[in-house]
Amino acid sequence: MARTDRSRNIPHWYAGDDDADVLSLTSGEGARVTDDAGDEYLDFMAQLYCVNAGHSCAPIVDAMTQQAREIPYVSSSKTTPARDELAARLADRAPGSLNDVFFSISGSEANESAIQIAREYQDASTVLTRWRSYHGSTYAAGGLSGDPETRSVVERHAATTGVGKFLPPMVHNSPFDGDTPDEIGQQAADHLEFVIKNEGPDSVAAVLTEPVAGTSGAYPAPPGYFERVREICDEYDVLLIADEVISGFGRCGDWFGIGTEGVEPDMITFAKGVTSAYAPLAGVLADEEIAAEIRADGHPLGQTFAGHPVACAAGNAAMDAYADGLIENCRELAPYLEQRLRELEARYGAVADVHGRGLLWSVEFGDPETGEPFVDPRVERDADNPVEDVREVATDHGVLFGSGRPDTQVLCSPPLCIDRADIDEAVDALATGIEATF
Ligand code: PMP
Repeated sequence: MARTDRSRNIPHWYAGDDDADVLSLTSGEGARVTDDAGDEYLDFMAQLYCVNAGHSCAPIVDAMTQQAREIPYVSSSKTTPARDELAARLADRAPGSLNDVFFSISGSEANESAIQIAREYQDASTVLTRWRSYHGSTYAAGGLSGDPETRSVVERHAATTGVGKFLPPMVHNSPFDGDTPDEIGQQAADHLEFVIKNEGPDSVAAVLTEPVAGTSGAYPAPPGYFERVREICDEYDVLLIADEVISGFGRCGDWFGIGTEGVEPDMITFAKGVTSAYAPLAGVLADEEIAAEIRADGHPLGQTFAGHPVACAAGNAAMDAYADGLIENCRELAPYLEQRLRELEARYGAVADVHGRGLLWSVEFGDPETGEPFVDPRVERDADNPVEDVREVATDHGVLFGSGRPDTQVLCSPPLCIDRADIDEAVDALATGIEATF
């Protein structure tokens, strides 16, 4: 395959020289992308879980073009109709009283804004996040993350302050010993209460967590977990912040992942899918009372490109696309994707578990003989990772999948515009990868 010269361009999440052969994509249409050699791929990852409306969606491109012609940039301390409209529409789709939006640019910055707001509002500094979580790569957001590789960078520079960690409520490879998902959910919630009590509830400003885990493995919490977490947060006067950077905008079959839990958080952070990744945009949706305090007292912080008008125009058009059938398509196709992935679990010993929600799924691998989970090679620095081989074979068969943190899994997060035939094609390529590897 031909490659453009990328010798001066350092890719993000660069794994070193082994990672040199990255794809250079030149065009996309719907769920398909084409590289600089003309080879086509089914993008079963929506790039980084973000091109939710698919590539080259004409109404989004048109809205951006029109906005750029009218006025491409307006200061983030002023406003413009596209920005106001998007804020109103987000408030309309968000649960309950989350009616005000503080725009940002990236997911990392949205999370940093949310914790700045929470700390000011609560006059308390500790924020609790899950081990294994991912909340961004900038210093403060990297410190919020529970992923060992991300944290190792920020902690080396002593940049993590005011963050405590709690154990995730995952069922596969769970740190808890409950016999059923419900029991594990209960144990995980009790554990969070223990952590809050021992941190000292007055010092805890917020719990920040993904409603459905993203990069750490597409796992939803067991039934009842979030209801209990909401009760605990209320009891100890701790804010609940849902990081919806991946789980929002239809990805889990609803506007927001927390919507699938029936729980109302105090803030939601969003990014990625809000514009279907056509332009960088992110933000914090805040409860009216919190927002009222910001409005009354002021909030002397901001970013030049927050709520960029061209990105807001993309956001408004993307929200139309989600409402006009994409979220429904996600809901309709989710059981079929699950069924096809469970077939792989039944057929191959190396597939240890599959879990997910909507069109966000993880295929977890383990030793085909013993069933033992693989150790994350990025933490152990073990160059030989069979899961990487599975993905490579799938890529050679024309389907792009994602890697998780830990990298013991293949992640599925396709654009929401796919159909059943796309799912069949992806699952077949994955099966070919598994057969070639194990
Ligand atoms: N939160 C979550 C849950 C994420 O998955 C990500 C990125 N994958 C972020 C925050 C950070 O977003 P960004 O890369 O836009 O800074």
